[in-house]
Amino acid sequence: MQLVFEQIRAGGDRNFGYLLGDRTAGQAVLIDPSYSPDAFVERAREQRLSVTHIINTHSHPDHTNGNERAAALTGAPVAAHPALQSAVALPDSAELPIGSLRLRCLHVPGHCADHLVLYEPTYRLLITGDLLFVGKVGGTSSDADARTEWDSLQRLVRGIPDEATVWPGHDYGVRPSSTMALEKATNPFLRCATVDAFLQLKSSWATFKKDHGLK
Ligand SMILES: [Zn+2]
Repeated sequence: MQLVFEQIRAGGDRNFGYLLGDRTAGQAVLIDPSYSPDAFVERAREQRLSVTHIINTHSHPDHTNGNERAAALTGAPVAAHPALQSAVALPDSAELPIGSLRLRCLHVPGHCADHLVLYEPTYRLLITGDLLFVGKVGGTSSDADARTEWDSLQRLVRGIPDEATVWPGHDYGVRPSSTMALEKATNPFLRCATVDAFLQLKSSWATFKKDHGLK
């Protein structure tokens, strides 16, 4: 087995999507091709990879708007959390084979009720969508959602190894990717000791950013 993994700038609001595959098996998936389905499909074709699924991390249009075009170009079904009613349902703990890779799906609501993160355990790749960004976390619209997001983040903190690399859904940080260890050490939202501190930071984020010279 030989890993194929590409972070692709998809346009929109600095959206990132991903091509993940097994070169030996000649199979790959597209993750959130969003604004650039043609470019994603081209990257797979150039490497003679057959696209088996188009996966969405969550239902926000800036992540799903390329589905139809990508599906038309590849014939591959869309796969997402069951709430999206896609052709392939990925409930919590589902494992999607890509050649000899196994992509684990974790249901991590908060930013969006149907949010998944995708974890490839052999190479320790964590595709975090809009749950976890480099140095930030996904926006939430209520305290209840923020509490849910906290629980989802704690699940990653406890369950994903430090050396796993973190691949977000937008290029919002000081670098395009990170590691769990680096985020635990430097992401102010993961450094919160309690959910109350997390809620407090969310509500004072604009001031916090200004005080710490963050963009
Ligand atoms: Zn989103």
